[in-house]
Amino acid sequence: MQGFGTTIFAEMSALAVQTNSINLGQGFPDTDGPPELLEAAVAAIRAGANQYPPGPGIPALRAAIADHQQRYYGLDYDPDAEVLVTAGATEAIAAAALALTEPGDEVVLFEPYYDSYAACVALAGARRRTVTLRREGSGWQFDPAELRAAVTDRTRLLILNSPHNPTGKVFTAAELQIVADLALERDLLVLCDEVYEHLTFDGRQHVPLATLPGMRERTLTVSSAGKTFSVTGWKIGWLCATPELVSAVRTVKQFLTYVNGAPFQPAVADALGHITKDVAERLQYQRDLLCDGLAELGWDVVRPQATYFATVDVGSDAVAFCRDLPHRAGVVAIPSSVFHDSPAGDRHVRFAFCKRPEVLAEALTRLKGLR
Ligand code: PMP
Ligand code: GLN
Repeated sequence: MQGFGTTIFAEMSALAVQTNSINLGQGFPDTDGPPELLEAAVAAIRAGANQYPPGPGIPALRAAIADHQQRYYGLDYDPDAEVLVTAGATEAIAAAALALTEPGDEVVLFEPYYDSYAACVALAGARRRTVTLRREGSGWQFDPAELRAAVTDRTRLLILNSPHNPTGKVFTAAELQIVADLALERDLLVLCDEVYEHLTFDGRQHVPLATLPGMRERTLTVSSAGKTFSVTGWKIGWLCATPELVSAVRTVKQFLTYVNGAPFQPAVADALGHITKDVAERLQYQRDLLCDGLAELGWDVVRPQATYFATVDVGSDAVAFCRDLPHRAGVVAIPSSVFHDSPAGDRHVRFAFCKRPEVLAEALTRLKGLR
């Protein structure tokens, strides 16, 4: 793991505390999830849900996850054989990478990529190949030929994150079809990280890759309660796939955490039946507040279609910019360049807007006075 130092999120959150800055870096909301959800976890603790839960997750949560996939996407999963509860999406991704790749195998990622993908590929002894999402006007595009060229005879797995962190891109039906066609043609497994599935804006719908013809059998769909219910510290995630794939991932998962979050599992099981649009609506409002404010300051901001994050082209080295920003303005952001292998993101900075409107307004005031 040489070359993997402290994560950018830990570094920047520490810098925010040190400099008393507003933290628009690490993506976590500054408001709690629904009170019923919190109370359900308290009740579960009081009721004694405090010992190891079953390895694959409690039956009620696995049933709720299967029901969620059916209700939102028409996907059928057997809660006993095809659903696995994990310690956040993070563990699902790690366990899948370790289970499904061998040293020397290749994994294709879209860059910018969520940092743990590169680390998990490295842990597995596999190699990553990246396909760049390039800024084009108000959105982000990849070149299908570049994607095709990234697949070699050693490619085993492709990781797709939609809605996408850090760009806020929601992959279109046509783009998903390109990925699906390639996966079918080259016999690839696809790991879909869908943790922002319910945080889409402007009426956009998230479409799981697993719903495309022929893809359910080769897709591992990962999501998590953290974003949907604003409880990023609970670390209740899950993975849905065929029995063979789930069994392989579960074999690894047993030796990572074994299990986690006993009292949170029943709470999330219950909440999955009552997802509202409240969080997405609030985030969309906050997105507009931040993006309008940054645009008024003359910044070149890309308005995201989903997620917690907006990207700004700062016109200079993003890492240096982000190291200075707390000192110059009392605001912390994340250089998207660290999510790239290529120089494509060198000037891109990610700002999180999953913060209360008054916090965003104060950040904008500070940025206006940027020294
Ligand atoms: N994938 C993406 C794209 C993320 O942004 C994050 C972090 N929020 C995760 C996975 C990790 O999710 P979890 O906190 O459930 O482990
Ligand atoms: N997913 C969060 C982000 O992108 C960070 C989670 C973490 O710190 N690992 O900001």
